[in-house]
Amino acid sequence: MPEPLLGLEKVDFENHLASILPGYRAAQLYTALYRQRCASFSAITTLPAALRSALEADYVVGRPEIAQRFESIDGTRRYLLRLHDGKTVETVLMPEGERNTICVSTQVGCPVDCKFCLTARMGLERNLTAGEIVGQILVTLEDNHLTGGLDRVNVVFMGMGEPLLNLPSVLKATRILTDPAGVGLSQKRITLSTSGIIPKLDELAAADVRPKLAISLNASTEESRRQLMPITRKYHLSDLLEACARYPLRPWEKLTFEYVLLKDVNDTDADARRVVRLLANLNAIVNLIALNPGPDIPFETPLPERVTSFQNILRRTMPCFVRKTRGRDIFAACGQLKRTTTPEIEQFPILTAP
Ligand code: SAH
Ligand code: SF4
Repeated sequence: MPEPLLGLEKVDFENHLASILPGYRAAQLYTALYRQRCASFSAITTLPAALRSALEADYVVGRPEIAQRFESIDGTRRYLLRLHDGKTVETVLMPEGERNTICVSTQVGCPVDCKFCLTARMGLERNLTAGEIVGQILVTLEDNHLTGGLDRVNVVFMGMGEPLLNLPSVLKATRILTDPAGVGLSQKRITLSTSGIIPKLDELAAADVRPKLAISLNASTEESRRQLMPITRKYHLSDLLEACARYPLRPWEKLTFEYVLLKDVNDTDADARRVVRLLANLNAIVNLIALNPGPDIPFETPLPERVTSFQNILRRTMPCFVRKTRGRDIFAACGQLKRTTTPEIEQFPILTAP
């Protein structure tokens, strides 16, 4: 099987390819694949034809293939991407004015059993490699003709999977994405969202290059979080908040908390007041998300007035935003990513995005 090159860092390129390429050619190849975003060896005109053929014999670029593309009426695009072993993951592009946010997956499925999330129903099939993570971004940029600079592109590790349970690949992908000679994105434009795998938070904190951190809070008491996110039995909410308090934020960074609002479950004013108390000593910003419904998800979306009331209580003491739902009609919204072709999804009525 030819070996994929995406996912190798600069030093790996030089070491790995030493037998067929001199160091400066390996550096050119690195730039061609990540910086110039060439999709095939034949497109790399800086390399002599003989070298390109030599590469083709043993290696592939290793980008995932677009298996299906879904377009929302709000401009969101959802991709079903096929990996080398036939497994599929989803990547979502959300354009907003001049800005584009790419939501990438870090695992095929997810082992964390959150009760409001469709991805959880898949269980974990496998971790993605760094190359498969970077590949999602390269494919999305190309398919949308985003050829210029990346100062208006944001990347969020908020697709399928729990990024902290695949931390080595997520960090490796982040180094490639932020290397000025690599893809060239700013660290400030990459965000990782986690259900709160406490030991891995300390590991993330120690990384030289790391995404911004978002924590999925989703409940205002230990008990309610246990019900909604059973992982709380292992990693208690109180310990999670302590880990947040010692997390070394960079001068430009705030700690983002996400809170999925579930009608009559965690959306009362009393919940909002408890969230204020929980986060009082953290440099926090809160993003509220009204539940995106799905088949067999035993919760309902709160009314817009409830969302506003919750937001107003938090806003008195911290920045609090309501995340606009994007791509609900094509099942691209948070928590809706699942293997697209499963029959349940095809049978589920199409919703109209607000
Ligand atoms: N596993 C990571 C990142 C992927 S989930 C995490 O849980 O943080 C990304 C976000 O979508 C999380 O904040 C999660 O709480 C939210 N989410 C999951 N299911 C949802 C749903 N049905 N509606 C709205 N948001 C949901
Ligand atoms: Fe996994 Fe995140 Fe979904 Fe929870 S919300 S099951 S951690 S993807």
